[in-house]
Amino acid sequence: MGFLSKLKNSFSSKKDHDRYLSGLEKSRNSFSEKIRRLSLNFAGVNEEFLEELMMVLLEADLGIHTAQKVVDEVENRALDQKLKSADQIEECLIEVLSDLYTQEDEKPFNENKEGVTVIMMVGVNGSGKTTTAAKLANYFMAQDKSVCLAAADTFRAGAVDQLAQWAERLNIPCVKGRENADPSSVLVDGCRYAKEHQMDILICDTAGRLQNKVNLMNELAKMRRVVGKEIEGAPHETWLVLDATTGQNGLSQAEIFNEAADLSGVVLTKLDGTAKGGIVIAIKDQLHLGVKFIGLGEQLEDLKPFDLESYLYSIGKGFIDHEEN
Ligand code: GDP
Ligand code: MG
Repeated sequence: MGFLSKLKNSFSSKKDHDRYLSGLEKSRNSFSEKIRRLSLNFAGVNEEFLEELMMVLLEADLGIHTAQKVVDEVENRALDQKLKSADQIEECLIEVLSDLYTQEDEKPFNENKEGVTVIMMVGVNGSGKTTTAAKLANYFMAQDKSVCLAAADTFRAGAVDQLAQWAERLNIPCVKGRENADPSSVLVDGCRYAKEHQMDILICDTAGRLQNKVNLMNELAKMRRVVGKEIEGAPHETWLVLDATTGQNGLSQAEIFNEAADLSGVVLTKLDGTAKGGIVIAIKDQLHLGVKFIGLGEQLEDLKPFDLESYLYSIGKGFIDHEEN
């Protein structure tokens, strides 16, 4: 019973525990309940069981490729280890999910020890970039970092104001451009401001237009180039902000952004609004990108660093707790 009980103790605080569990409630209710039901009818690792497991994984939004890998691996391990009980299968499933996520190493946060660390947020409109920029600022401030924001989404009326309002609430600087200003010029100003004021972190909000792939690529490439000229190694992190409620569709957008911007990670937002929490595993398996942070609500403190064990416990609590009793 080692592995599953370890998950329960993975949370770094009571607050994180509660936030994870409430934010992932929809995913948990759906996933845990279906796995429980599967277990109750369990009569061995036969075709019927594997088909039903596949259905549950697809409903959790692992996507067909990742779900198939999981089903195959559960089958292999069940045969190898001669697993017989439903409880053993449940533990095996969680272990397979965990192994799939961790089989590829993830780069740690690429902090610029010599100066400003530049983080670029990219993603389609409405995915949660601006809100996440503010939440991230709040997160880093809690780690005693000085943070400033650059409002480079100059295309949408109101986008600059939205970020500026967050900055005001957080009491941090926000470098702005005029509407329709060249986003790259805003980033240059942001970099210069951050250097001059010796800020630790500059978070860059960008526009999310995806109607033209070539435009998007050119613009992202330009933005990356100009910040790289201002600050050595910048952008140090480029995170794709992905709306979890868009599920597998989000993954195809992700591929386009990845080509354009050399992503270093994903921030998965709106997990609180969906039962499709399995997308986390699909992102790692299909995009080879780690989930850095997850959005579990609309408030500032509803952004949490992604922790695999806490996540697995949060979606599987229903049957994990059951096994402990
Ligand atoms: P942008 O167009 O990518 O900048 O997206 P915004 O930051 O403006 O966010 C769009 C909407 O999504 C806003 O109403 C946010 O409050 C909401 N939102 C962002 N992240 C989350 C989240 O983790 N959970 C929930 N429930 N809503 C979120
Ligand atoms: Mg925005």
